[in-house]
Amino acid sequence: YPGCFAMTELHHGSNVQGLQTTATFDPVTDEFVINTPNDGAIKWWIGNAAVHGKFATVFARLILPLQGMGGGSADMGVHASIVPIRNLKTHSVLPGIEINDCGHKIGLNGVDNGALRFHSVRIPRDNLLNRFGDVSRDGKYTSSLPTINKRFAATLGELVGGRVGLAYSSVGVLKIAVTIAVRYSLLRQQFGPPKQPEVSILDYQSQQH
Ligand SMILES: Cc1cc2nc3c(=O)[nH]c(=O)nc-3n(C[C@H](O)[C@H](O)[C@H](O)COP(=O)(O)OP(=O)(O)OC[C@H]3O[C@@H](n4cnc5c(N)ncnc54)[C@H](O)[C@@H]3O)c2cc1C
Repeated sequence: YPGCFAMTELHHGSNVQGLQTTATFDPVTDEFVINTPNDGAIKWWIGNAAVHGKFATVFARLILPLQGMGGGSADMGVHASIVPIRNLKTHSVLPGIEINDCGHKIGLNGVDNGALRFHSVRIPRDNLLNRFGDVSRDGKYTSSLPTINKRFAATLGELVGGRVGLAYSSVGVLKIAVTIAVRYSLLRQQFGPPKQPEVSILDYQSQQH
């Protein structure tokens, strides 16, 4: 099934540690509750969300209720969970999920970027991607990494390869564009000295720049 990677929020792009979507553990039902607390926390630009995606890997702050501490809660930082967003058979949007299309873009229109809003959507504990941090049945948090920052770095480390790849492919596209422009500028002729053949536009300083 097609899925999507739902990290970016309307108000939080580069600053992933500032994400506001929450995944709150409910010890009564053994579920996580995924919620969008405000408009700025709507997941934005999410590829595959607008039309095709059945599931989303949602990055959200993991909130754990503190037992015996007067009803408080602890913010364990950003974690990823799998959230179903459309019915597998009918493809209709599931209850509690709101999806909008980001609309026409100046490029990459083959990708259906969309916006996702979660209204207290419940997911089972198994949907937490728990490689770097887990929650026990009684709501206790465990991790092989000692701090929020270390867990965050490990979680986002997977993106580094993609970022390098994106910069690399941009350079590739730019090289092709420059090659096409230089070849065209060599063949295309406009103006020239009086009573003589027109000259290649590549001879003009403004075109070279
Ligand atoms: C076509 C497209 C597809 C996308 N698909 C997805 C997707 O599938 N899933 C997903 O989660 N996200 C997706 N994104 C979102 C993408 O990851 C974000 O756009 C990106 O993280 C940047 O966030 P932003 O757009 O909010 O820019 P901002 O974070 O607001 O940055 C704006 C500008 O400020 C600069 N800037 C920000 N902080 C600093 C700083 N500390 N120092 C110096 N400069 C800084 C940035 O470099 C940038 O030039 C997509 C975006 C696009 C355009």
